[in-house]
Amino acid sequence: MVDIENVTFSWPGKQEFQVGIDRFSLADSERLLLLGPSGSGKSTLLSLVTGIVSPQQGMVNILGTNLGSLSGSARDRFRAEHFGIIFQMFNLLPYGTAIDNVMLPLQFAPERSNRAAHSGGARHEAHRLLTALGIDETLHNQPAAELSVGQQQRVAAARALIGSPQIIIADEPTSALDRNRQQDFLKLLFSQTAKSGSSVLMVSHDDSHQKWFDRVIYLPEIIKTGETS
Ligand code: ADP
Ligand code: MG
Repeated sequence: MVDIENVTFSWPGKQEFQVGIDRFSLADSERLLLLGPSGSGKSTLLSLVTGIVSPQQGMVNILGTNLGSLSGSARDRFRAEHFGIIFQMFNLLPYGTAIDNVMLPLQFAPERSNRAAHSGGARHEAHRLLTALGIDETLHNQPAAELSVGQQQRVAAARALIGSPQIIIADEPTSALDRNRQQDFLKLLFSQTAKSGSSVLMVSHDDSHQKWFDRVIYLPEIIKTGETS
């Protein structure tokens, strides 16, 4: 699903933080948790995996496609088609309804759109996912900004899951919730990804989630950080 080899990367104008990764991979249907303290490069690694940024050296291979071989716009289409992303701050459209937000990624991803429409139409599928994630029908047409943090997080998860993208990426999606709600959320997320067979790559600074995952990597063990020489 994901294969990274001999990658080096630094943010433009930020030479003091350079990352090096010899090898990183994610298997088909695997649930992988990446742990590391704040500032250890978790979000940076997710940006490399999703092609939001490109490495200065090395290869990022996703589902057999070398992201470096794609143009910027082809990479954007590839990301929309194959990744469902739950951002740390959810990045919902505040004035859009829950349903509008869930359906948004389908605009840029024809294959996902076809899969979502398979039984009863994409809108029906958006309603089904929201309900499966515990969002009551009465809230489906509420603007996202009027929902609680926990509800917004579930909307963000439904948006990542719609159309069954092969890889679900989650950047500390539980950091705004208390412990009990965190576990409930992961259970709901995984019951959906188990149905679609999607892989899950989640990052967190909280090691209490470990038991829910197939594999746990402590990021400082695979990522070298330091100054550019
Ligand atoms: P984590 O997610 O583990 O907290 P990050 O990957 O966000 O760590 O940050 C690692 C380093 O990369 C930090 O020094 C941070 O300032 C820098 N960084 C992260 N995102 C950006 C960005 N968009 N532009 C410039 N620097 C960034
Ligand atoms: Mg981060």
